[in-house]
Order: sequence, then structure tokens, then C-alpha cells
Amino acid sequence: MSDEADHIAERKMQFLFALRSKGVTDARVLTAMEKIDRSPFIRGYFAERAYEDMPLPIACGQTISQPSVVGLMTQALKVTPRDTVLEVGTGSGYQAAILSQLVRRIYTVDRHKRLVREATEVFRALDLTNITALTADGCFGLPDQAPFDRIIVTAAAEDPPGPLLAQLKIGGIMVLPVGQSDTVQRLIRVTRTETGFDYDELRSVRFVPLVEGLGRDV
Ligand code: SAH
Repeated sequence: MSDEADHIAERKMQFLFALRSKGVTDARVLTAMEKIDRSPFIRGYFAERAYEDMPLPIACGQTISQPSVVGLMTQALKVTPRDTVLEVGTGSGYQAAILSQLVRRIYTVDRHKRLVREATEVFRALDLTNITALTADGCFGLPDQAPFDRIIVTAAAEDPPGPLLAQLKIGGIMVLPVGQSDTVQRLIRVTRTETGFDYDELRSVRFVPLVEGLGRDV
């Protein structure tokens, strides 16, 4: 192996080790994260730091989430290969790309048209054909494609948005951060039952806020 290939292989091993040590233990999730390279989702200067377990800046003042948080949220969703999933907050597209390896179809929406366009370019380049990215206000979900087996929200709301709860199938699971921005947010898992919703608190996290309406770049 060349020095460069050696170096990349070593960084990848460290990346997977960091994920495991932070609680990402599901073999299917780890395999997806080993396969999908994070660097194409980070344009420019920060791309060389793709293998660090850190959130990094992307366009439109947003961030690509920390890989271990992506892994823990994916694990918490308990997806199956038959699932249709909605992601609110496409951002770089990295979380959607990881999920695309584990489910049948994923719809992902972002309020910033530019992020949707750039993520779509990366999905095409990587031949991830089961992802549909759309510009939309995710506070309202995606009524045309609802209901969903799983919903993941990667921006923090004060409470789970009603339309998203309504678009979850019975037996379906939603994972989302709740709390005010700039304070501690809690990652929660909501499971829809025959009669209502069960809530589990998973851990504390820090996400950019869920903002109503479309971005000004639209
Ligand atoms: N999942 C992303 C990280 C998302 S950062 C990744 O893997 O890179 C949060 C994203 O949520 C931002 O891109 C922001 O534009 C988006 N967002 C915030 N409020 C939104 C809303 N109401 N509807 C859709 N997207 C929203």
C-alpha cells in the first residue's frame, strides 16, 4: 500500500474505533458508516477533517453532525430494510446517505434549496438511488408521502411538531432533539402505539434549531 492509502486506512480504523467507544455498536450501522465516506459531504477546507468525530461547518451557516451522534441516532431509529423514512434537515446529506444503506427509501427535506441541491449532487455521484431530497419546511413533514415507518429530525424543536407525529405509522418510531437552542437539548425517541405515543429520553445533544419557513436562498 502507498503511504497515502496506509494513512487513510489508519484514519478510518480510528474513526470506527471512536464510534464504537461512544456506543455505536450495531454491526449494520457500523458497516454503513465504514462504507460511506464522509468527506464528499463536506466541501472545501474542512473536508480533510472528515474522519474526526466532530460536527463541522457546511454551507448556509449549518453543520454536518458529529459522526457518533449520526451513528447513535441511526441505531436509536431501529430501522428495518423495508422501511420508508423521512429525514427533516438534509444539511450535507450524510445522515441520509447512512440511512440509505439500511432502509428501502428515504425522503429528506431541508429549508435551504442550496443544501438540497448540493446533497443531491453527492447522492448521484455515489449512486445512492433510494434517496429523494426536496426543499420544504419540514415542520409540516411531507404529507404526500406520509405515513412513514421512521422519522428522524436533525434540528432541535421545542416540542415534537404535531404534523410529524401525525405522519408516523402505528408502531413507527421518530428520533429527534428537543429543547431550546443554545441550551441543553435532549435526544428523544417517540414510538407511536395503537392508543398514543411513548417517549424515551436517550441523551443530551446540541443541534442547530428547527426554523419555520424556507431559507432566503430559495
Ligand atoms: N442531517 C444533516 C445535519 C443537519 S443540520 C447532516 O447529516 O449533515 C440541520 C439542518 O436542518 C440544516 O441544514 C437546516 O437548514 C435544516 N432545517 C432547520 N429547520 C428546518 C425546517 N423547518 N425544515 C427543513 N429543514 C430545516
